This record gives sequence, C-alpha cells and structure tokens, in this order.
Amino acid sequence: MTYRSETSAVPSIVLNDGQVMPKLGYGVFKVAAEEAVDAVAAALRVGYRSIDTAAIYGNEAEVGSALRESGLPRDELFVTTKLWNSNQGYDATLRAFDESMKRLELDRLDLYLIHWPIAEAGLYVDTFRALQALKAQGRVTSIGVSNFTRANLERVIAETGEAPAVNQIELHPYLPQTALRAFHSEHGIITEAWSPLGRGAELEDPVIAAIAGETGRTAAQVILRWHMQLGNVAIPKSVTPSRIAENFEVFDFELTDEQLARINGLDNGTRIGPDPDTFQIDAPA
Ligand code: NDP
Repeated sequence: MTYRSETSAVPSIVLNDGQVMPKLGYGVFKVAAEEAVDAVAAALRVGYRSIDTAAIYGNEAEVGSALRESGLPRDELFVTTKLWNSNQGYDATLRAFDESMKRLELDRLDLYLIHWPIAEAGLYVDTFRALQALKAQGRVTSIGVSNFTRANLERVIAETGEAPAVNQIELHPYLPQTALRAFHSEHGIITEAWSPLGRGAELEDPVIAAIAGETGRTAAQVILRWHMQLGNVAIPKSVTPSRIAENFEVFDFELTDEQLARINGLDNGTRIGPDPDTFQIDAPA
C-alpha cells in the first residue's frame, strides 16, 4: 500500500503551545468500528495526517490500528481524542485518558479535548486541570476543549491561567460563529470546525453551487476552502473514498474576497448539533 508522503501539502497552524497542527484533518464521528480501519487507511493514503476521534465514537482502537498499519512515522501523525462527559472531574479524567491511550495504543497524544462543557456539572475547570497535569507529564502535547462558549472559556482562562490551544465547535456557512471566532483570536485559541460541511445539507445551497460553478470545484471543496481562508482547522468526515479524496483537494485554488463575502452572507444561525448551553450529560454526540 502506498501512502502519499506530501504531508506538507496540508498547510499547518501553530498552536499557542508551539505545536504544529494540520489545518485539514479527517473526522470519524459515526464511522462504525468495523469500517473505521479502512476509512482511516483511505484518508492516510490520500495524504491526511490528522485524525479526530473521541472516546464516545467507539472507534479509538480501530483508529489506532489503522495508524500502526500505515507504517507512517509517529511524528508525521496528529491524533486527537476527546474526554466524554461522564468522565469529567480530575481523577476520572486521568483514568479516562489512560483508557483512551490503551485503545489507541499510543504513548503520547497530540491533542486531548474536553468534549462538552456540561456547565451544570461544574467540573470542567477541574477537568482542564487534569489535562494540564497530563501535558506537564508529556503524555499529551496540546490540550483543548470542544463546544465551549465564551463564558466557559473565560472561566477556564481566569481559574487556570491557561487558554486552551483549541476550541472545536460546530461551524459551517449557516453557523459561522463570528463572535466566538473573534474571541478565540483575541486569546490565541485555534478554531476547529466540526460538521464543517454542515453534515451535507449546505452542499445543496444555491450560493455554494454558484461558486462551485465559478471555480470549477465541488460544493464540498468550496466550503472547505472557505474554512481554510477563514483560518479554521476543519475535520470533514466521509466513509466514501472518492469524497475523502475530493475533500483533500482544496489547496490549489483560492476564493476571492467577493466569493468569501457571499458565503459569509449565508449565516442563518442553523445548528445541526445540540446547543452547548443546554446539552445534557449523557446525550449522544
Ligand atoms: P461533516 O460536515 O463532515 O459531514 C459529513 C457528511 O457529509 C457525511 O454524511 C458524508 O457522507 C457527507 N460528505 C462528506 N464529504 C462529502 C462530499 N465531498 N460530497 C458530498 N457529501 C459529503 O459532518 P460531521 O458531523 O461528520 O463532522 C465532521 C467531524 O467533526 C466528525 O467526524 C467528528 O470528528 C467531528 N465532530 C465533533 C463534534 C463535537 O462535539 N466535538 C460533533 C460532531 C462532529 P459519507 O460519509 O456517506 O460520504
């Protein structure tokens, strides 16, 4: 099997701790365990080097297998996983991290995220302190959060003195998260977009279709290019090999300012996933 070795084909960003992260990664939410090895292998062959999983996705072991079977050097890979809600709290986080690492069969993780704030549980600051301890031990290089609101971020920064490296949030043309992105950039937090394609719905949008026609690209490529030019990290998911490849071909064209403005004009506040302020602890995500 050959693996495209153009790691440098994906531009990177530098996180607030100095670690370099590819701007485009491959997400595996809803990739069933039995198809995950093949799907991740397909992504690695195309050239993706950053893989986004989570304990709750039930496929960490398969992600780990695909990474090992690729034979790619560990330092070319960027692996993210996430702490599930029911494991928040200092000690529970340390235990859950060990379990994720056993499933992944890794001795160092690139990025560990708190999956949801679950503010009513009141544990996310202690949970972040556990991530700080794991980082101090060198077991994880970068620590971040997911689905955190501005208020959640302000509390973490105020109480721990450290800004998360990344906030992974729902972000697509119908929900461009303009205010939260501005807050992130003021605090050196990288914005990572989940459901970057709007889980497929925005691929039918007439404005996106028009820009696809103008650029000779597909709707998915136009949306991913918009993410890249906005400065986001994006982690599209697909189990379809042709789409996995299509979604990677976004570094050889540019959208004009006018095209970017038309996409920015699609903001209508539509969420696909739960609102972080009301999300309950055990709901699936
Ligand atoms: P995406 O926006 O990535 O959309 C995925 C859907 O779009 C799938 O149905 C896929 O179909 C389809 N698709 C992908 N590429 C194309 C294409 N080129 N043309 C047409 N259709 C396409 O949504 P996700 O919700 O999967 O988000 C991506 C990743 O974000 C997840 O895998 C996960 O890693 C992360 N995430 C994180 C969350 C969090 O709370 N932190 C929550 C949700 C997601 P098919 O697979 O059949 O090809």
